[in-house]
Amino acid sequence: MKKEIIDLVFPQPLPSIEEIEAKYPPRELPPGAIVTRTAPSPTGLLHLGTLSAALLPERAAHQSGGVFILRIEDTDQKRQVEGAKDLVLRAMKDYDISNDEGPVLNAPEKGSYGPYIQSERKEIYQAYIKKWLEEDKAYLCFCTEEDNEKTHEMQSKANIRPGYYGPFAKCRKLTEEAVLENLKAGKRFIVRFKSPGHYTKKVIIEDLIRGRREFPESDLDIPIMKGDGLPTYHFAHLIDDHLMGTTHVIRGEEWLSSLPLHTMLFQVAGWRAPKYAHISHIQKLDENGNRRKLSKRLDPEANVTYFDEKGYPKLAVIEYLLNLANSNFEDWRRQNPEKSYKDFPFNIKKIGSSGALFDFVKLDSISRDIIGRMTAEEVYNYTLAWCENYDVPFALLMKENADYMKKILNIEREGVKKVRKDIVKWSDVKNEVSFFFDDQFTLTTGEAFNILKPLSINDITNILKDFVEVYKDTDTKDEWFQKVKSVAQKNGFCVDMKAYRENPEAFKGNVSDVAKVLRVFVTGKEQSPDLYAIMLVMGKNRVLKRLNCL
Ligand code: GLU
Repeated sequence: MKKEIIDLVFPQPLPSIEEIEAKYPPRELPPGAIVTRTAPSPTGLLHLGTLSAALLPERAAHQSGGVFILRIEDTDQKRQVEGAKDLVLRAMKDYDISNDEGPVLNAPEKGSYGPYIQSERKEIYQAYIKKWLEEDKAYLCFCTEEDNEKTHEMQSKANIRPGYYGPFAKCRKLTEEAVLENLKAGKRFIVRFKSPGHYTKKVIIEDLIRGRREFPESDLDIPIMKGDGLPTYHFAHLIDDHLMGTTHVIRGEEWLSSLPLHTMLFQVAGWRAPKYAHISHIQKLDENGNRRKLSKRLDPEANVTYFDEKGYPKLAVIEYLLNLANSNFEDWRRQNPEKSYKDFPFNIKKIGSSGALFDFVKLDSISRDIIGRMTAEEVYNYTLAWCENYDVPFALLMKENADYMKKILNIEREGVKKVRKDIVKWSDVKNEVSFFFDDQFTLTTGEAFNILKPLSINDITNILKDFVEVYKDTDTKDEWFQKVKSVAQKNGFCVDMKAYRENPEAFKGNVSDVAKVLRVFVTGKEQSPDLYAIMLVMGKNRVLKRLNCL
């Protein structure tokens, strides 16, 4: 009888379990090497948490000399979105999170433990589901969605724990005759797990981040195969992590509550469960000051593409996520400014068990440091690549003036003790450099006088005139500064700061006020990188034209 039922469920031939297991031999790995995976369900939007759930296992695996797998969990066909898989693959490539096995953008899948896209593994899952039916570890369920809703309603009214279990697992009690009759009548069915668990029993499960946790044993008869013949996530993950030899599962904390169920599934399968580490969600403060999970719906920064649009270097996002995961990253980075983040000794166990708050100030400071460590050539290339997507006119301007741009970006970068840190994002570059281009330099004399108040127009005019007379682009920085001082002195501005502090009333101002006049007329800004260097890069003609404008 049972065989007749199973043949009706799976009329097509399926691979044997022996055949399957033989294709997935135990891995030969060096001692201490771990096998981890990231297993996103591509839904069209890449959450920052998803990026973190790829980065952290990748770090853990590669640091141990192990294997990092990308597995695409697309068994929930209702949630599938066209192109969503490629979005994941592109992000992995762009963020330099490289998987040893699994799909890769525009290239064939890598690794011999695949296929790594779950919808391509249907037969494998079905072979195990068939086995579980044969071994009485699973059964057919004919309950409709309406039946389940009714049960759910009843449970919630009566304040009973919701779910398909124990007394509520109606189809668990069906006789083989009834099952056969239903099948022959063409009734729709799913396959459910026959849980041997007892909710009153306790299980202790170790989480690498949260330590030992006590849970009630899972007694849920969860669906393992849906009406479309595909497995549910819970069952697919069991089979895949077993066959792929996963030793460590590092994933979002939303899966923590499934841990008793997953442990039960591994126990029933007779397989050793991987070690689990559940990463806390990134949080945010709501308007009432309460913490909440970063939300796709409410927070634009929950979406990874947001950072790209804003112009953050991808490396800044990666280092920010590492910094959230391991708080000692910051110290390490300070001590090792030249090293790649890949050299940081990332530690799963050091991940905080309570969620960190998303912090733009921190992200900006990480980003500023990263860009500060780059050469002008790198800043130019990254900015250009960003502008080609987000600011085409500026990209054109950059390309037409490539040498000039690189010289501009090199100001206070090469050969200085303290590198400039005025760029946080690629989108800042335009604003920082636009005054170097005449057609973008819009300062009017009226605006300049306003900025320079309370200096008189007369003094300003004289300062500019006197400096124009002496400026030479062949001067050294010292010679240049001596000239600024001589102009100051000539116009009644103090050049000796000590004397100025003692008796400020005796002077019109000091040498820095004179430098400010020059700065405002040359750059249009009160603050700028080194003015001497700016003048050199701008070239004598442009400098004199700006100073001669009155
Ligand atoms: N497909 C699951 C997700 O997108 C993965 C859970 C796991 O890593 O086990 O969150």
